[in-house]
Amino acid sequence: MTRKQISVISPCYNEAAVIKDFYVAVKSVLSALPDIEHEIILVDDGSQDGTAEILRQLAAQDPSLKAVILSRNFGHQIALTAGVDYTSGDAMIMMDSDLQHPAQLLPMLIEEWQKGCDVVSMVRVETQGAGFFKRCSSQLFYVLFNALSRTTLPMGAADFCLLSRPVYTQLKNMPERHRFLRGLICWLGFNRKLIPYTADARKAGVSKYSMTKMVRLASEAIFSFSSKPLTTAIRVGLLLTAAGFGYLLYILYGFFIKENLVPGWASLICTLLILNGFQLIFIGLIGEYVAKIFEEVKGRPIYVVKEHINTEPADRKEA
Ligand code: UDP
Ligand code: MG
Repeated sequence: MTRKQISVISPCYNEAAVIKDFYVAVKSVLSALPDIEHEIILVDDGSQDGTAEILRQLAAQDPSLKAVILSRNFGHQIALTAGVDYTSGDAMIMMDSDLQHPAQLLPMLIEEWQKGCDVVSMVRVETQGAGFFKRCSSQLFYVLFNALSRTTLPMGAADFCLLSRPVYTQLKNMPERHRFLRGLICWLGFNRKLIPYTADARKAGVSKYSMTKMVRLASEAIFSFSSKPLTTAIRVGLLLTAAGFGYLLYILYGFFIKENLVPGWASLICTLLILNGFQLIFIGLIGEYVAKIFEEVKGRPIYVVKEHINTEPADRKEA
């Protein structure tokens, strides 16, 4: 029987304080698995703290460690995409490199895959040490996304998951630049198993998801998976126009029948302001989609690799 190969991919952005511990933890769990070969793909997402140098040292000692060093910081989702492009295993697992995703859970994911699941997603039920704001904003995001999109994201199912070869091959062939991977994975379907887990606290360093990056990820997700904001514009527009005509009838009634029309500057100004406000909001929404179309048609590569170690260049199918 041929041994199955598992690829573990992980993006690293300024993770010099933890990356070695992460590698050791993952390596020891994978090496203990009978009948499974492995490769570990670490993508350096433009770190400035010497993470790339540590990856070079680790890769020099272990040929099964592939290091892909990007030319600058492209963001978590793009770094993961680069990792997927370099994958060649029978199945792949994506996980964070800050030890928040426990390496001891890897055998459980692999076991579910061996039972026949194509997608095994770890669902975070709790994150140790997570602040009130992070918990609330994350829950609000899932509620908003599911209300606006036809793709349903299970609450807490982030990017800690296993994908079988047929699934990640589909993912590799998706040409879009605006990549919200957990949404794309839900969209792909296949048979999926959700496993609850408690995420550990970050072992060292700080979260690389600044407020701006979190908002960008959320807007990326919503604007790539939902056109409801645009259709809402039509509904609100119709409602306001109907209200405007209703008000006009009321004014005509006051003028011709009751003949007691008082000039109402205040209401006029209010109406103007509200309507102009709505118009600007919806023009802004349309702008968001137009900007996304612009990004897609430019056809630039999704990421740029500066250096790759222990691996050949990946061939990404561009649109
Ligand atoms: N990360 C990355 N590029 C970025 C931001 C984050 O590759 O621009 C990586 C980071 O090194 C980590 C993972 O993505 O392995 C998740 O980031 P982080 O732990 O900072 O996010 P949090 O867990 O706080 O949501
Ligand atoms: Mg983290």
